[in-house]
Amino acid sequence: MRPSTRIIRSTLAPALPGTPIHSGPVFAAAFHAPGDPSSIPYTYARDHNPTWTGLEDVIAQMESGPGYQAQVRVFASGIAACSAVFGSVLRPGDICVYPTNSYFTARHLMQEYFTQMGVELRMAATSDPFQADLYHGAKLVWLETPSNPNLDLCDIAALSVAAHHAGALVAVDNTTCTPLGQLPLALGADFSVSSDTKSMTGHSDLLVGHVAVRDPNLLARIHFWRAHTGAALGPMEAWLAHRSIATLPLRLERSCANAQAIAEFLTTRQDVEDVWYPGLPTHPQHQLAKRQMSFFGPVLGFTLKSKEAAESFMAKASLITDATSFGSVSTSAERRARWGGDAVPDGFIRLSAGCEAIEDLLEDLTQALDSSL
Ligand SMILES: *Cc1c(COP(=O)(O)O)cnc(C)c1O
Repeated sequence: MRPSTRIIRSTLAPALPGTPIHSGPVFAAAFHAPGDPSSIPYTYARDHNPTWTGLEDVIAQMESGPGYQAQVRVFASGIAACSAVFGSVLRPGDICVYPTNSYFTARHLMQEYFTQMGVELRMAATSDPFQADLYHGAKLVWLETPSNPNLDLCDIAALSVAAHHAGALVAVDNTTCTPLGQLPLALGADFSVSSDTKSMTGHSDLLVGHVAVRDPNLLARIHFWRAHTGAALGPMEAWLAHRSIATLPLRLERSCANAQAIAEFLTTRQDVEDVWYPGLPTHPQHQLAKRQMSFFGPVLGFTLKSKEAAESFMAKASLITDATSFGSVSTSAERRARWGGDAVPDGFIRLSAGCEAIEDLLEDLTQALDSSL
């Protein structure tokens, strides 16, 4: 079966006459569990919940590749999933290699908390080809590709070989692409981590994250972390997430095609200084993108000449919601430097293409650019 068929079929409940086609969320803290609990599948909901199981199974199928079956644990947010890998792998004295231009909150957690707990950080830019030199003695190599917000890439397969050679584990934050766009575990990574708040669920109304692994020992550590830190996803959110993932193949197809068309359009404008999108032949790592990714993603970046020009553009655009985050059915964008913390120009805009009709989006972009400063 192809992924879209499998994902959609996974939302159906067993075909028992008179029962609903789709089962609803299971709301429980405790489950009936008399006597010896070892053979009872569900006992207490901080450890497991059938609604999580349905979601974890479908994501595990998406994360699986040639010759291996992935296993997944879902979390209350993407950052809870990142923390689970940091916390279950790193101990005082360990070395962690971390990208300088990666998602801010996870990087901040690493810099502000884990370094105080004795972890040594070695930072490098995502596209730095000499990264492999940094891996000597490392315990964990964290990659994020395409990186957020600059859309730089790194070669997961080559860097995983180098990291494993040095004895390190490799984790990839795969949020921008989703496992349908790129399969970190098939490329050699040990952990595939995602904020499913973004494209995976795609409606800007949920916080969800997951960690996928091949190795049952790593799964046990991730499972332990979730149960013991309480990073538990609510059943309602798990159920909404599963329902939303059914449309992921459709949403990705449309939003990535829209992102490509918008990126190509922006390159034709004199008032746009730079356009960053892995699907453009002008992207410095376009060849790697073609090899590593099956979708180039819904997110692109472009630079207008100043902070004022970017603010004016955002105010004039009526079909582009001025908000952070990405991967939604509706197009959104933001002037990224307003947050601080990322090395981007003042006029840099990160845009996440939604699923609207491309003609409407291009008309709106044209009028907003024409009437900006
Ligand atoms: C949003 C995001 C996260 C954090 O996810 P939350 O669901 O917001 O906690 C982690 N990594 C990347 C790349 C993200 O974009």
